[in-house]
Amino acid sequence: MTARSQNTTDPVRVAVIGAAGRMGRTVRDAVEAAADLELVGGFDLGDDLGDLAGTQVAVEFAVPDVSLDNVTHCVEQGVHAVVGTTGWNERKLAALRATLQEHPGVGVLIAPNFAIGAILMMQFAQQAARFYESVEIVELHHPGKVDAPSGTAARTADLVGAAREAAGLGPVPDATTHDPGGARGARQGGIPVHSVRLRGLVAHQEVLFGAEGELLTIRHDSLDRVSFMAGVLTGIRSVTAHPGLTVGLEHYLELERS
Ligand code: NAD
Repeated sequence: MTARSQNTTDPVRVAVIGAAGRMGRTVRDAVEAAADLELVGGFDLGDDLGDLAGTQVAVEFAVPDVSLDNVTHCVEQGVHAVVGTTGWNERKLAALRATLQEHPGVGVLIAPNFAIGAILMMQFAQQAARFYESVEIVELHHPGKVDAPSGTAARTADLVGAAREAAGLGPVPDATTHDPGGARGARQGGIPVHSVRLRGLVAHQEVLFGAEGELLTIRHDSLDRVSFMAGVLTGIRSVTAHPGLTVGLEHYLELERS
């Protein structure tokens, strides 16, 4: 199906998938408050997505197990998608790319984190990676989060790991030989990642770098889900002009500008 287009003066017609969830509710409020956007639908568990009646852009914040099916359905209906659900891996991305090839006008943005500060944190961590022998990531979230590590931590670790490899750095130094309980955390791209779940938190991350006699800590805190909304709205307004798959909101932002 060809991508659903719009008259440039008309509001963009937006549906939310995962509409009853914490993020879905916040997105619905943000879309309703934006003069250039119109909320035309909300879908949650058990709802039939059908033909997504008149929707141009679907925003998906659901659960990792269903996200590929939901987004594939959108693409097959010619509906652009802005996706915040975590848990995307290479296998799922490859399946989505194959579907997008059959619907060349449709755009999908998958963003592990829509908060501008989190995107900058990942970029700064990528920049710092080659200068430090040691690096570890601590991500901290509310206890209702179902997946670990967070998508942001996984993406940060991949970026840092790739930057270390490009710089010829070896594995992070670590003399641990006995760790039956996994106290040293998970490994993503060779980088230790630690997940904290604590009542009262929203979404937080620290990237800890260490070298002889020196430490650098890069920290980001999302204190409210509203912190993701500027990025989500940017995604909605931009996705129709970016056919194919884009991973990371940074590709829609002119970050090279100082
Ligand atoms: P939540 O549990 O509050 O909401 C998820 C919603 O999805 C629920 O209402 C659930 O009923 C619904 N759902 C389940 N199966 C569904 C299906 N098949 N179709 C439609 N809806 C379905 O979770 P949340 O805190 O809103 O987070 C949602 C996702 O967004 C998680 O993966 C989370 O990690 C991610 N997240 C991403 C960002 C980001 O910036 N990218 C920020 C915060 C959260």
